[in-house]
Amino acid sequence: MAARKHSGRMTLRFYPYELQLAHTFTVSSYSRTTTPDVQVEIDFDGITGYGEASMPPYLGHTVESVCAFLSKVDLSQFESPFLLEDIMEYLDSLSDGDSPAKAAIDIALHDLCGKLMGEPLFRIWGYNPAKAGPTTFTIGIDTPEVVREKTLECAGLYRILKVKVGLDSDEQMIRTIRSVTDLPLAVDANQGWKDRSKALDEIFWLKENGVVLVEQPLAKENIDDTAWLTERSPLPIIADEAIQRLKDIPRIKGAYSGINIKLMKCTGLLEARKMIAYARAEGMKVMVGCMTETSCACTAAAHLAPAVDFCDIDGNLLITNDLFKGMVVRDGLMQLPDSPGLGLTKI
Ligand code: MG
Repeated sequence: MAARKHSGRMTLRFYPYELQLAHTFTVSSYSRTTTPDVQVEIDFDGITGYGEASMPPYLGHTVESVCAFLSKVDLSQFESPFLLEDIMEYLDSLSDGDSPAKAAIDIALHDLCGKLMGEPLFRIWGYNPAKAGPTTFTIGIDTPEVVREKTLECAGLYRILKVKVGLDSDEQMIRTIRSVTDLPLAVDANQGWKDRSKALDEIFWLKENGVVLVEQPLAKENIDDTAWLTERSPLPIIADEAIQRLKDIPRIKGAYSGINIKLMKCTGLLEARKMIAYARAEGMKVMVGCMTETSCACTAAAHLAPAVDFCDIDGNLLITNDLFKGMVVRDGLMQLPDSPGLGLTKI
């Protein structure tokens, strides 16, 4: 990236913003109706870059921990937002964890760089926006009546649905959805299956019922059983909870067919793009997911879509108080905004 000369320094602002969920969200381990979130803005040369940290409770981050980390960050020591590598290395020197807070800064810096260059991120990276493709839309675990109703609501709007499984009601969930639509399905067990042989039987049954991908079937620590399962599975097995950052890939390669990259786990776009390259070099499939987020972080993730196999970028569609318009889904396909940086407009 060729940066012109800039005057001034970067300034960082942030504020908590609680996301309101449209429906109570249930996965195999918990339910919730809100998600804590922190919005980040970085100013430079009269331009503002937007970023976001979303903190689903199971990862252990809170508004307090994110704000405490962001308070320690001094961006004024860097000449410009184009020093992405130096800045992310500096953030990692401040703590081992705090991935969502680091991702918020990474996303805002990418937004700034794109705006300073006058181009959308996908174009700077050389990606074809026509290849952004479909995103799955997630249906949480619920009663058959609610699942049927939710499936009816979204079946005509998407080309693939994602179904949360991992409880005893898995077959009933799939049969209920199949009574409404024959769309392809991805399933996410969120570590909910306990026995590898039973999991394998279930995966064969799922394949017969139009499922195309299985996310995190077994406990993240259970790498040996997952390797056994992946070797025999007729469907790709994707690691989600088992992987956070680039350095985690060597530990799980061979045990999974692919990885689910989420910006809040991996500290943002800079590392996400390295993970895509590494996974490709290992012959692994790549999925990009998200947390419950506004269109800020979801649009950032969507800019990676042309470079990956599967996208699960529906976090912005699950909330009722979005702050931005960015990536939109039309006829089930993601449309990337064509304006500089992330391409967001404030609502
Ligand atoms: Mg998952």
